[in-house]
Amino acid sequence: MNLDSALKLIRDIPDYPKPGILFKDITPLLANGLAFSAITASFSNEIKKSEIVAGIEARGFILASAMAIKAGSGFVPIRKAGKLPHAVFAESYSLEYGNATLEIHQDALSDSERVLLVDDVLATGGTILAALKLIQKAGGKISHLCVLLEIAALDGRARILSEFPDVQITALVQV
Ligand code: AMP
Repeated sequence: MNLDSALKLIRDIPDYPKPGILFKDITPLLANGLAFSAITASFSNEIKKSEIVAGIEARGFILASAMAIKAGSGFVPIRKAGKLPHAVFAESYSLEYGNATLEIHQDALSDSERVLLVDDVLATGGTILAALKLIQKAGGKISHLCVLLEIAALDGRARILSEFPDVQITALVQV
């Protein structure tokens, strides 16, 4: 299956999880093996040698793990508050429909390790900004971030670039 056909499997769920939010549901894409493979192949082309892949809980885990396995890279989880068992760095932020805190293990990355960050949707950019700050706190060097879908009208890209001007942002589709 080609990438365009795979991306067309993402469906819109109006008013989820709150009225006024148009939720981009990737589960039909993940459930289709050819579509999931097409996405994974396209994403894993983005991984450079010796990069580690960080994924944001929860849908970012699915995509980041698949691409890390395909590229033979390691995986680092960036989790919601209270889920990681060892000492953490934390960052709180606001998202399109609420507030949240993300955490990373303090020893998740070795100094200056190059990191590729992955999530499913880039909306206002708050989640990814928090994750980038965590990677920085843990000593990682952010080279690149990949999302499946970018909601361009919410301007998350500009928000990210205002604080991390050198980060390369790849979105497989923009809506
Ligand atoms: P934001 O911090 O506003 O960029 O939101 C991005 C995070 O929230 C991602 O982890 C997405 O999984 C989720 N998210 C935000 N808005 C949507 C949306 N309209 N559809 C699906 N997921 C969303």
